Amino acid sequence: MAEVLVLVEHADGAVKKVSLEALTLARSQGEPSAVVCGAPGSAAALHDRLAEYGAAKVYVAESDDIEAYLVAPKAEVLAQLVEQVSPVCVVVPSTNEGKEIAGRLAIKIGSGLLTDVTEVDGDGTATQVVFAGAVIVKSTVSTGTPIYTLRPNSIAPAAASGAAEEHTVEVAVSDAAKATAVTERVVETKTSRPELTEAAIVVSGGRGVGSAENFSIIEGLADALGGAVGASRAATDSGFYPHQFQVGQTGKTVSPQLYLAAGISGAIQHRAGMQTSKTIVVINKDAEAPIFELADFGVVGDLNKVVPALTEEVTKRKG
Ligand SMILES: Cc1cc2nc3c(=O)[nH]c(=O)nc-3n(C[C@H](O)[C@H](O)[C@H](O)COP(=O)(O)OP(=O)(O)OC[C@H]3O[C@@H](n4cnc5c(N)ncnc54)[C@H](O)[C@@H]3O)c2cc1C
Repeated sequence: MAEVLVLVEHADGAVKKVSLEALTLARSQGEPSAVVCGAPGSAAALHDRLAEYGAAKVYVAESDDIEAYLVAPKAEVLAQLVEQVSPVCVVVPSTNEGKEIAGRLAIKIGSGLLTDVTEVDGDGTATQVVFAGAVIVKSTVSTGTPIYTLRPNSIAPAAASGAAEEHTVEVAVSDAAKATAVTERVVETKTSRPELTEAAIVVSGGRGVGSAENFSIIEGLADALGGAVGASRAATDSGFYPHQFQVGQTGKTVSPQLYLAAGISGAIQHRAGMQTSKTIVVINKDAEAPIFELADFGVVGDLNKVVPALTEEVTKRKG
């Protein structure tokens, strides 16, 4: 069976969820081959997880040069592998880094690229959801080896065991790929909460929360439920919560088991980032708020009363 190259995104010795989704998608196109780029020694910790999600092979491209320069070395590794193994297609996570790598790869190998795809049919036809979910586009790549960037949280990752046979890739980074060097890395301060795009439960607050201080009630409920905190753009633009927690068209896309929206009206741009959540619970004082159209459960009421009461009840039941 023809190989499908899947670029693995990883951090702190763990495979990112979007890469498990990409391996799941790859299995519908051929035999998934995971491509791990990183500093020497980074692939070992990822091996079992990649095997668990069906990687038949793992191409290990380890070099200090991969860490020392921005995305260009990773695009070179992929281009080299495309030449060597003639894959049926290449799947890359649709993250900022992934999209830049995919664009560079497309130029290097002279192939067509489809970004932000949500699924790919057996015949290679990709689906893209555009204009904040208002239009669904179906496209195929007509030139070269198709490259797809997969939008996070579009498909459920499904386990399937693979041999994950390791193959070492000789990394020879060109001078051109060394044009931009990394000069410093700053570790983002992490909370004990799960990563927003990977969380099973997300509690989001909007303009209705009213202030940065009052976001503590949203955090309180998220913590009681073991979930992540999200925010609407109105909330982040107002300085109530940091921008990296924005959910929506110009923020993060989430697809948790439970999405709880408090004080959010449900603008189309917000929906674009959360409408595929499994169960949606809404708290809004306006019974006419459009977000109720998406709700599985809705409470019409003041979030300042409802959210703390809910937190108290959840905490009580947990105890
Ligand atoms: C190009 C573009 C991209 C955008 N990208 C995004 C994006 O990525 N994400 C995003 O979220 N938005 C995005 N927006 C903005 C979007 O159009 C909306 O303006 C925004 O989502 C509104 O946020 P909100 O629902 O918090 O605020 P509002 O629309 O002001 O709604 C606040 C809600 O809170 C309710 N409320 C007020 N007080 C209480 C209370 N005490 N208790 C309960 N409920 C209360 C109100 O009834 C109301 O429904 C984008 C806009 C554009 C033009």
